Amino acid sequence: MKLAGKVVIITGGAGGIGKDASVCFANEGAHVVVVDCDPQQVEKVANEVNGFGLTVDVSRRDQVDWMVSEVINRYGKIDVLINNAGITMDATLVKMTQEQWDRVISINQTGVFHCTQAVVPHMIREGSGRIINTSSIVGRMGNFGQTNYAASKAAVIAMTQTWAKELGRKGILVNAVAPGFIVTPMTDKMPESVLQGMKEKIALRRLGQPRDVANVYVFLASDEASYINGAVIPVDGGLSI
Ligand code: NAP
Repeated sequence: MKLAGKVVIITGGAGGIGKDASVCFANEGAHVVVVDCDPQQVEKVANEVNGFGLTVDVSRRDQVDWMVSEVINRYGKIDVLINNAGITMDATLVKMTQEQWDRVISINQTGVFHCTQAVVPHMIREGSGRIINTSSIVGRMGNFGQTNYAASKAAVIAMTQTWAKELGRKGILVNAVAPGFIVTPMTDKMPESVLQGMKEKIALRRLGQPRDVANVYVFLASDEASYINGAVIPVDGGLSI
């Protein structure tokens, strides 16, 4: 097992990609902390992976601070933080409301800032840690109807590179994963015609599965990735080339 005894927080850990990640990390021997919004889903997935479930809205700093104190009280350390929670609220630029802009930025961008800033002091104390952020190819390429989402995911790349520079000397590695189109409740919201059009642009001619992304999270958390810092790894079947 690659991650025996490691304490791993996975935000959005009860959702599409996050749920598969919770399972993959548990299979590698990690203590998985499933962090998500819906208490029933949190409990269900935490039980499935024999982990610790916490119902937290990552956009709320008070809840994130509580999450970190709960994890430290239980395990005494945090080895890996996966900033996977994210939402979409799509509209074209002209139609986008202030609420749609604010909500997406508050979760996808500010939520990543909250969790990382709250966790990092504990990693500095240990002299080691891994931060894995979930961006998107949309953060590099833009996407029709996703001003808010694209901006938040570009910010995730910028924060990843900044923190890799700041924290590398403290033994903390910071990387991002940039998924393409993965079959989850998030993409279930997209019209079938759009998904079909996407498939034709993907070199592998298929959408990704949550496990395709979860496997990269596990790799980035493992000893095998100990010289990778500040990278943004596409997991998109060749859509962005
Ligand atoms: P998903 O199935 O919707 O899962 C996201 C999870 O995050 C859900 O369980 C959701 O809870 C939770 N969440 C939402 N807001 C939260 C908050 N404020 N605090 C804590 N948890 C919150 O989406 P996914 O496809 O697995 O996406 C996972 C990550 O991959 C996201 O960052 C997404 O942007 C990124 N991504 C996905 C794709 C894709 O094609 N699927 C592509 C590129 C990047 P609720 O369901 O209760 O809201």
